[in-house]
Amino acid sequence: MSKGRIFSGMQPSGRFHLGNYMGALENWIKLQNDYECFFSIVDLHALTSSYDDTSKLQDNIMEMAIDWLSAGLDPEKNVIFVQSHVKEHAELALLLGMSTPLSWLERVPTYKDKIANLGSQGKDMYTYGFLGYPVLMAADIMLYKATCVPVGEDQTAHLELTREIVRRFNYLYKKDVFPEPEAVYSKAKVLPGIDGRKMSKSYGNTIPFGASPEEMMERIRMMTTDPARIKKDDPGNPDICIVYAFQKVFNTEEVVDIEAKCRAGEIGCVQCKKILAEKMNYMLADIHTKREELKQKPGYIKEVLEFGAQRAQVEASKNMVEIKEAMNVL
Ligand code: SF4
Repeated sequence: MSKGRIFSGMQPSGRFHLGNYMGALENWIKLQNDYECFFSIVDLHALTSSYDDTSKLQDNIMEMAIDWLSAGLDPEKNVIFVQSHVKEHAELALLLGMSTPLSWLERVPTYKDKIANLGSQGKDMYTYGFLGYPVLMAADIMLYKATCVPVGEDQTAHLELTREIVRRFNYLYKKDVFPEPEAVYSKAKVLPGIDGRKMSKSYGNTIPFGASPEEMMERIRMMTTDPARIKKDDPGNPDICIVYAFQKVFNTEEVVDIEAKCRAGEIGCVQCKKILAEKMNYMLADIHTKREELKQKPGYIKEVLEFGAQRAQVEASKNMVEIKEAMNVL
């Protein structure tokens, strides 16, 4: 028995990294067994901040689909599709935009942060689309009458806004068309970047998902360790070491031993990094192999996305009839 219907999406905005995997995708793979899931590659969302250069958009969509499938998202169990392939997302966003107060959008905490962040990179973010991003997000969820949305702690404001838009719609048009979606909190593991900051493409500190064993070793070699350790028998402090932060996630069997040896100066950082690389490569080997296989099958990936869009379309069309009837837009 399904516990409810989930909608969730990810922006195809460049190479997927391990932080994305641990922060969301790993959780989706668990959820697919308990919920009816709609997972969308939200390309329209990518346009809200990358409207000026769309040259890599199609490649990024294909890469993201490969990442999802190689990690274990099942296209039979889940509806996996590209947002813009189901035009009702744009249509519902337009309709919801009519009744969403501007003040609700301006007070979204991430709005001003992102304006400052991207604005400092010389990009004009004072666009209609960027301000309306949360309305498009609400439309994505509401189009399928999703009852649950997997969220991290920092995304609750967006979900709350969707819930407000739902309440306003149902109140204005005097019909309970939409359920109020509930948050499904994930216990996502947060991975730092190789320099200790948040793992992010913009910092250049990521470990690509599906990295080859050589690439993995190279990225781990660049990780910051305890800077006070000069010789390998100097006692170390693993609490300030990024390698150790990864050992805690990927090498749970040996982490206690590594910590003790580090503090006692009985293991060198080079050896410690080698152990981590071997462990991570071992754990991600199947995903890497599957990823390489799928890269050779672009026709299959397109079929999966077309099949998903057809399934999503059936639900979207049905719900749009009801939504438009409630609004007297026939
Ligand atoms: S031995 Fe390992 S945990 Fe200790 S500082 Fe070096 S890399 Fe970090």
